[in-house]
Amino acid sequence: MVELRGVHKSFGPLYVLRGVDLDVPRGQVLVVLGPSGSGKSTLLRTINHLEKVDRGSVRVDGRLLGYRQVGERLHELPEREVLRQRTQIGFVFQSFNLFPHLTVRQNLMEAPLSAQRRPRSEVEPLAERLLARVGLADKADAYPRTLSGGQQQRVAIARALALEPKLLLFDEPTSALDPELVGEVLDVIKGLARAGTTMIVVTHEIGFAREVADAVAFMDAGRVVELGPPAQVLDAPAHERTRAFLAKVL
Ligand code: ADP
Ligand code: MG
Repeated sequence: MVELRGVHKSFGPLYVLRGVDLDVPRGQVLVVLGPSGSGKSTLLRTINHLEKVDRGSVRVDGRLLGYRQVGERLHELPEREVLRQRTQIGFVFQSFNLFPHLTVRQNLMEAPLSAQRRPRSEVEPLAERLLARVGLADKADAYPRTLSGGQQQRVAIARALALEPKLLLFDEPTSALDPELVGEVLDVIKGLARAGTTMIVVTHEIGFAREVADAVAFMDAGRVVELGPPAQVLDAPAHERTRAFLAKVL
């Protein structure tokens, strides 16, 4: 579902991704760990083409995002087309990013109605189903500010699912939450994993990684230093930098 080959990305003089190769097969969960500044968020942003790569390729479901290939030549797609492609990839941020002036139900319905132009008669029951799935069926008419952080993040997950994406990206989805609210969000993500959703999750929740990940990647200074099944990367890391990082977060 996701294939990165030799991905390089700089911001001016700052060399952030230094040749990243990754594969996430359909239905699998990749957890990405690594110290702050190692390039994890940038990596996720290249996958949905919020950042253009300088070198290398990013394919999602076999397609080169942001480009149309004609023979050997690549043509950049117009922004409108990129936006449409991006709706196939759900993105959940640390900071929820709900629309504050919309109710929970309206937050879920917004993108399917406006970006996907689906009929309200179809989108409304979808929103109800998704709210039930994240355990918030009773909050449809609430405004985001009246919800706890954990509830807001569960709404954000439901909103991402409303576009029926092929792939879900999570960027430290529980880092902004009070400790007692982390579990309810991780439980929702675990449910998605059990249902076979393809996901890349940047998180420092090692217990979650051990339980849910098919593969764990450890990033340091713009490279994937270590990649393998959780038992290998988390319990028997081959690299000193991975060991040092795990010693700090465990
Ligand atoms: P992580 O998510 O692992 O903490 P990031 O991918 O956010 O790392 O950032 C990696 C480095 O790139 C950091 O030094 C960060 O400040 C820098 N960076 C990220 N985005 C930009 C940007 N748009 N412009 C300039 N520098 C950026
Ligand atoms: Mg980050």
